Amino acid sequence: MTAKIRLYVEHPLGAGQTIPVDRDQAHYLFGVMRHGVGGRVALFNGRDGEWLAEVAEAGKRGGALICLEQSRPLQMPPDLWLLFAPIKKARTDFIVEKAAEMGAARILPVQTEFTNSERIRQDRLQAHAVEAAEQCGGTFVPEVADLQKLSRLLDHWPEVRQLMFCDEAEVGNALQLAAASHKGAPWAILIGPEGGFSEAERKRLHAMGQSHVVSLGPRILRADTAAVAAMTLWQQALGDW
Ligand code: SAH
Repeated sequence: MTAKIRLYVEHPLGAGQTIPVDRDQAHYLFGVMRHGVGGRVALFNGRDGEWLAEVAEAGKRGGALICLEQSRPLQMPPDLWLLFAPIKKARTDFIVEKAAEMGAARILPVQTEFTNSERIRQDRLQAHAVEAAEQCGGTFVPEVADLQKLSRLLDHWPEVRQLMFCDEAEVGNALQLAAASHKGAPWAILIGPEGGFSEAERKRLHAMGQSHVVSLGPRILRADTAAVAAMTLWQQALGDW
């Protein structure tokens, strides 16, 4: 019993639970997808795994779903944060979408010395993470944090969290992530802005005990490409792939 449509809901999920359908979901489910009473959908809320549910009421402005059975358990990604400096809107959206698909546990936009963007729309980025999880079959949705200063984040950096620092100054050097180093530990990946890191930032990041400086090959990648490449390398070496 599979259901093609996957919906993220806030509501707790469990056998027999009634899940209210809000206006937007009603428009999508009953209007766009033409589902009616008895139709099947897959639901997840980021906590209770994926549940098969049946449409019990279908209206223009709302409706109700009944949870039937769990179709998949909750699958948590590894404890990996992605830190990146927001760039242009479409590229920032891309980074959030890809991070959610590739298995980041938390997404943290950071302001570095050369970051162009002063503001982000956290709610919009969070919605992108939800959509990516709906689309890729994920049962977990990474939290997108508010924009914060990288220097502040580093001031309170957790002792045990390792940091894969992607430093464009190492372009062309053979600095790879050592497979199996700190496997199972909490990790973070740091990708800089279009302008790169400042010398002061670079110095500080190199000096951190948790820092693992990595090169992403002989060419300078754009930040969105670098984020995907870095997550691939990390997942392959230390993650759940
Ligand atoms: N303007 C900078 C490049 C910034 S690229 C310059 O010309 O030096 C954006 C980010 O992607 C960088 O801050 C870094 O985190 C990452 N990145 C891109 N290419 C990289 C590479 N070859 N090695 C390591 N990190 C890289």
